[in-house]
Amino acid sequence: MRSSLEAEFVLPSPLEEITGDERLRSTRVLLKRDDLMHPEITGNKWRKLKYLLRDADEVGATTLLTFGGAYSNHLRAVAAAGRRLGFDTIGVVRGDERPSNPGLRRAEADGMRLHYLDRATYRRKADEDVLINLRRRFGDFYLVPEGGTSVHTLPGCAEMLREIDVAYDSVVCAVGTGGTLAGIAAGLDGHRRAVGVSVLRGASSLECDVDRLHRAAVGRSLSNWRIDHRFHCGGFARRNSELDAFVGEFSNRHGIVLDRVYVAKAVLGLYRLIAEGEFASSTVVVVVSGRGDPSS
Ligand SMILES: *Cc1c(COP(=O)(O)O)cnc(C)c1O
Repeated sequence: MRSSLEAEFVLPSPLEEITGDERLRSTRVLLKRDDLMHPEITGNKWRKLKYLLRDADEVGATTLLTFGGAYSNHLRAVAAAGRRLGFDTIGVVRGDERPSNPGLRRAEADGMRLHYLDRATYRRKADEDVLINLRRRFGDFYLVPEGGTSVHTLPGCAEMLREIDVAYDSVVCAVGTGGTLAGIAAGLDGHRRAVGVSVLRGASSLECDVDRLHRAAVGRSLSNWRIDHRFHCGGFARRNSELDAFVGEFSNRHGIVLDRVYVAKAVLGLYRLIAEGEFASSTVVVVVSGRGDPSS
């Protein structure tokens, strides 16, 4: 496909060890810095979109339509990638109160047409009648699922693992829709395991979603992964004093501001799991899937 966009990414993304942190006990922790790959397109969104955009190109699509909440990194990534690759983009945003914020304005500046859907309809966004209405309004489009999660997610995530050139035992990542975790689990070999930390409260269907992706993409269920639901810190995009204290201390000690919506919850979860005795005498790779905002 048009490879100009791929050339913008700095790959492989760096792998950095966390040193001098006694809380890690006997666990060696390496950060896979996917937050450093591109100035605008969030790390894991590119991993997830790369092969999906290739598919869109191969089937001759000219317009991409996708879904997201008002603070969606995914909408921004699709807008930015679409502009560079010559796709028209439509972003269907949850909430008919027409939310606006710097991220959505950035998506519009990249040429994305925003369309707002009330929450009840948004929940049914995969239903045929909702899609028919969207097609009536916008014409034909290539449907990019929410978060970019589809069978095309998996190869890009596996590619991320192939960049890791040291021995490791486990991968920890944040879980929103579960696409990244599904891709990582499908790309792991041997005894290696993936642990996802859900950033949503009570997202009990995530296990089914990941399993469905595996059955669709690799033809069977996999047992080398699990999701920990204890570290959402109040729910999606919520924070609590424990998370704030953890992010502050991590930044002071290691000079990295963790993204509070996703990455900080995964790293906090990892530290708590280590305190509980998990991952002893082993090496864990944490996927730093996006960038933190120093002002938040
Ligand atoms: C979207 C996102 C995730 C979640 O990825 P899923 O594949 O939806 O689980 C994790 N980290 C960051 C920074 C993200 O933007």
